Amino acid sequence: MTKSRYFLRSILRFNTAKLCPYCGSGISKVIDRKYIFTTLNECSQCSLFFRHPLDTIEFNYKFYQEEYEQNDGITTDLPSDVELQNLMSKNFFGSGKDVSGIIKILKSLLARPTVKVIDYGANWGYTSYQFRNAGFDVQSYEISLPRAKFGKKLGLEIITDENSLIGNVDIFFNSHVIEHLPDIKHIFLLAQKLLTNDGYFISFCPNGSLDFKKKHPENFHTFWGQVHPNYLNSYFFCKAFKNVPYLIGSDCSKQEDIEGWDKNCQKILDVSGIELFVFAKIKNQHF
Ligand SMILES: [Zn+2]
Repeated sequence: MTKSRYFLRSILRFNTAKLCPYCGSGISKVIDRKYIFTTLNECSQCSLFFRHPLDTIEFNYKFYQEEYEQNDGITTDLPSDVELQNLMSKNFFGSGKDVSGIIKILKSLLARPTVKVIDYGANWGYTSYQFRNAGFDVQSYEISLPRAKFGKKLGLEIITDENSLIGNVDIFFNSHVIEHLPDIKHIFLLAQKLLTNDGYFISFCPNGSLDFKKKHPENFHTFWGQVHPNYLNSYFFCKAFKNVPYLIGSDCSKQEDIEGWDKNCQKILDVSGIELFVFAKIKNQHF
């Protein structure tokens, strides 16, 4: 969607109710603003930062079938056949889509021969491909039909109906997905249903934590908006997962910090980095 159409849409939806898309609270305060009509709001109850005006679930679905493009070169650009062959021959090593660091962490969290993972929001499959090569038993889900279809080129069956996901998995993995969702509680409940009792909900997303805002105010302002209706922060995850063990941080290259977590307590590492992560055993959380 072009900027002008987004702007027009924001004006047309300016008078819609400003309710938190997570907890439904009507009490929030404006913490940032773009193009006069679009605001970032902090929910006073659950601490989610959310954009107003919001999109409907139907609009969101249609958007991801037809219009979703980003110019960061990472999220949605589909590679040519030659580029893809080159990436696959190196198992994406050293590319912008290399997840070998994350695979190392997942293996350290679950020291067992078979790890069952759901890659939720798999895009065209680059993460699922590397997970499979690491020996994980992977199921992949993607909302965008054209991207899911592209996964066939990587030998993947990316499903587009989340009701087809099979449960009893060790990890419900999602990277740069949650900030796009019109309904965050839905993903928590889905993960809870599909995880084993001590399985992990693992999420990576742009960091909306105040420590990051303090350090990089200009980046903070950039990271929410048209395609990012939610801006996740450490307080939100602490509240959402208040009854269960979690680890929250923003630098997953510090493997020793992650290995230092005993997996049964609630721990927050430094959250001033660019990318927020949370690992949580959410099975017994009441949402
Ligand atoms: Zn809320």
